[in-house]
Amino acid sequence: MIQKSFLNKFVVKPGKEVHLRDLDPGWASHKDLLDKFGEERVMKLAKKILKRNLENLAEAQNLLWASDTYGVLVILQAMDAAGKDGIIRHVMSGLNPQACQVHNFKKPTNDELDHNFLWRYMKNLPQRGRIGIFNRSYYEDVLVVKVHPEYLDTQKLPPGIKGENIWRHRYSDINHFEKHLTRNGIIVLKFYLHMSKEEQRKRLLARLNNPAKHWKFSDSDLPERAYWDDYMKAYEDALTATSTEWAPWYIIPSNHKWASRTLVADILTGTICNLGLEFPKITADRKKRLEAARIQLENEVEDLAEGTMTA
Ligand code: AMP
Ligand code: MG
Repeated sequence: MIQKSFLNKFVVKPGKEVHLRDLDPGWASHKDLLDKFGEERVMKLAKKILKRNLENLAEAQNLLWASDTYGVLVILQAMDAAGKDGIIRHVMSGLNPQACQVHNFKKPTNDELDHNFLWRYMKNLPQRGRIGIFNRSYYEDVLVVKVHPEYLDTQKLPPGIKGENIWRHRYSDINHFEKHLTRNGIIVLKFYLHMSKEEQRKRLLARLNNPAKHWKFSDSDLPERAYWDDYMKAYEDALTATSTEWAPWYIIPSNHKWASRTLVADILTGTICNLGLEFPKITADRKKRLEAARIQLENEVEDLAEGTMTA
């Protein structure tokens, strides 16, 4: 599991202003490691750590499920092609499918637009004992909608709501909503996958150059890329305003997929382990009942054996 100081390294301290340009999407502190051993060896090591993390995560999830007290909401936000889908695939690969769920949020439907903006997300929150992943989330309502304010016109808001203050009010709504969740035992973990514009160019180009990956390329990818600077500003504002003691953001360097996958799995595992969960205690009375059940089942075998002999 990741060391605490390492966990602290990627967290956005509440109240701290985020400047994405100052944060290296390539994981600068590990540049020395890359220079010394080369990417291949570092990747191998990261894969090993990821494998161990996934084993630890499976154990942590088992405990989460058995203790049935906390749920974990994992929020993934990023620009297109930053690796959200890959992270979900990897992180989920070792989990018990009964105890986890993923929701992808696309453009809201008419029915969704007929409700308050948090409604569709509330409906899909994880239950206690489960890990729920949001592939995009209510943060889109202060990101894509802020970059394209004309989307607000589809949200059927009453007059006077759409003024300058709307973003500040939405950040505040989100902070209160997340406070409500954590007060009710839903842990909120938020990851922003930080990838450079150049890395996105390479990944989108790779999709276009490989017919097997054409399906991954969306007609909106290039038009949205043209708003890169606006998105970065919207992310900086949102990350600054909504990283709280109870629901902090983690900014994950994501130019290397092996790094982002390893880090997300690690932070998720570390967070669940830090809850200090225990398997439900067995009382003396229950122990007696279990022993009685055991004896009953053992006797059944003897009865069956006797039955076959006399038949
Ligand atoms: P993808 O996740 O790449 O399949 O794309 C989903 C699309 O839905 C993205 O372009 C998002 O920006 C968009 N989207 C998600 N949530 C919202 C929202 N609340 N309002 C408008 N667009 C959204
Ligand atoms: Mg997309």
